Amino acid sequence: LLEVKNLKKSFDENVVLKDISLSVDKGEVLCIIGPSGSGKSTLLRCITRLDHEDSGKIDFDGTFGLVFQDFNLFPHHNVLKNITNAPIKVQKRDKAEVLSTARDLLKKMGLEDKEEAYPHELSGGQQQRVSIARALAMNPDILFFDEPTSALDPELTSEILVVIRNLAAEHMTMVIVTHEMSFARNVADKIIFMDDGYIIEEGTPEEVFSSDNTRMKEFLGKFY
Ligand code: ATP
Ligand code: MG
Repeated sequence: LLEVKNLKKSFDENVVLKDISLSVDKGEVLCIIGPSGSGKSTLLRCITRLDHEDSGKIDFDGTFGLVFQDFNLFPHHNVLKNITNAPIKVQKRDKAEVLSTARDLLKKMGLEDKEEAYPHELSGGQQQRVSIARALAMNPDILFFDEPTSALDPELTSEILVVIRNLAAEHMTMVIVTHEMSFARNVADKIIFMDDGYIIEEGTPEEVFSSDNTRMKEFLGKFY
């Protein structure tokens, strides 16, 4: 579904992605872990065309949804408008169909009574659930998450992790950058460990978490 080959990206002299190749199959959940500054967000930004790679190839024809750490909702739009805006304006879909999709998603996220609310009237966890509903309303082939819980306290974090886990159970294809190691271990079909612009380890959670790589062990040591 998605194939990335020999991706390279620099900001001036700072080479951030050095030679990244990966693939994601339909229905697969890929978690990307790694230390701060290793290039995880830059990789997602290149794949989702928010940034442009210097060289390499990204093969992906479908629609994607994107969920950020800090929710990125439009503050001047209510919840319903946040969700329906792009499907109606960008995807040019039928208004009634989009509205009904949005209401189904809000129900699924436990937010059916919040459609008139503005982002500032919601908790962080609620805002993030709106942001996930907004991404899902695009009917994405892949959903990308960049540290979806790192702005949330532990209770709200687990609320969001449950939502993502449910999407995984429905076989939503997802690429998730996360610092939640036990979550990654549970939900991922495949894990990539990035360090300093390279993929150092790649494999099933069992393989990656039992790696003998020094950098990997050092990184995991910070969590356990
Ligand atoms: P974190 O876990 O802290 O989110 P990350 O793995 O997502 O880290 P990136 O945000 O991809 O790391 O950043 C990798 C490197 O690229 C850093 O050295 C950062 O300073 C640099 N960088 C990222 N975006 C830009 C930019 N727009 N301009 C210049 N340098 C950038
Ligand atoms: Mg990042």
